[in-house]
Amino acid sequence: MSRTNQTALQTVKGMRDLLPPETAVWAAVEATARAIFARYGYREIRTPILEETELFARGVGEGTDIVGKEMYSFEDKGGRLVTLRPENTAPVVRAYVEHGFAQLPQPVKLFYVGPQFRYERPQKGRYRQFHQIGAERFGSGAVPATADVEVLLLLVALLSELGFRDLKILVNTVGDEESRASYRAALVEFLTPLAERLGDDSRRRLASNPLRILDTKIPAERELLVGAPSLAEHLNERSRAHFEFVRSALDEFQVPYEVDPRLVRGLDYYTHTVFEIVSQGLGAQNAICGGGAYENLVGELGGADTYAVGFAIGEDRLVDVLPADSPARLSLPGPTIVALVGEVERGERTSFALAETLRRAGISAIDAGGKGSKAVWKLAEAMASPWVVFVGADELRDGTLTLRDTATREQTTLPREQAIARLAASYAR
Ligand code: AMP
Repeated sequence: MSRTNQTALQTVKGMRDLLPPETAVWAAVEATARAIFARYGYREIRTPILEETELFARGVGEGTDIVGKEMYSFEDKGGRLVTLRPENTAPVVRAYVEHGFAQLPQPVKLFYVGPQFRYERPQKGRYRQFHQIGAERFGSGAVPATADVEVLLLLVALLSELGFRDLKILVNTVGDEESRASYRAALVEFLTPLAERLGDDSRRRLASNPLRILDTKIPAERELLVGAPSLAEHLNERSRAHFEFVRSALDEFQVPYEVDPRLVRGLDYYTHTVFEIVSQGLGAQNAICGGGAYENLVGELGGADTYAVGFAIGEDRLVDVLPADSPARLSLPGPTIVALVGEVERGERTSFALAETLRRAGISAIDAGGKGSKAVWKLAEAMASPWVVFVGADELRDGTLTLRDTATREQTTLPREQAIARLAASYAR
């Protein structure tokens, strides 16, 4: 059957290929993150992409947008209800409980890097498969708030290592369970008589997740909320002291932050400190990182009550707004191109062998044997090659190589060993 009439296939809506040379930037960002995680004592965890649907229903919360409408859920061939993970906190908590990590000396500090899936309306900075770099920190000393502060300091260290200077850290507290319940009741009491004037989403949230109404983007709803009771007034003493500690420590470490009383975050499990890091460089989807503390989730997923705090950075957005001078953009030079000039004894086998000799000397190399000179330059440009190496009859006779520096266009012929040493210096770390 002829295949020529078949239509070409494309990525699924909302999903995309990450391609070179951009993938080198992703790898560099992840390498930087790994280095900073190691500095703060975090070790990597890799959980499955597929989990039981119930994990997210219980862990993230039935009333959230994620669980309510954004999950990729299906029944597998064994009749299990499974879901492509929409976030990684619940899976990490599941693993913490499942593997008895509570028995390890605390704190247990874990980080992850990987894809997440949400069936959202795609737009700039919002994908159905996106990638997160995140961490969860379990257990705390006598003052749990220090864990929140340490996590924020880690984030500041990572983002400044990546070259960011204009990011804004927004923090707030949603208080502990008791404070939240008291506030929730007050908010529902305030909004119920106004329900007619709320949009469909907010009216639904009034029953399921009223705190979420606070971060509405609809101007008319924002106006209604001006007179709403404030969360701060409903904080009990414990919650108030916790947040006070976080703020004073952030001041002490000179972390620039803003308190945003409307920041509540969309996930059910947060208690106490919540935070978001936003970039002016992004449009509506301007949050590159979100996180917070959660003191009840481990218990809700079957473990013993454990204070925990975590965050997730949206890697897609992070790479989007990575500063032009970020060290993560300085990748290794492209491969050296090995080309032939004129008719050469053994022809392309000569360049093939030379390319392998260079690689064994630690030099990244591509064999461009059979290509004419125009094609060689095109290849050098496309691959960002620092060098093109020529071998012709003269070079073979004299035991030399001719190097062309692609930036300066200077050409030099050197004894073979010397030429290889010169190339190797370009790739030395
Ligand atoms: P969340 O898990 O909702 O707290 O999100 C944490 C971070 O992940 C956000 O600040 C975004 O940077 C990123 N993120 C969440 N959803 C998406 C998405 N659909 N596409 C791209 N990035 C996302």
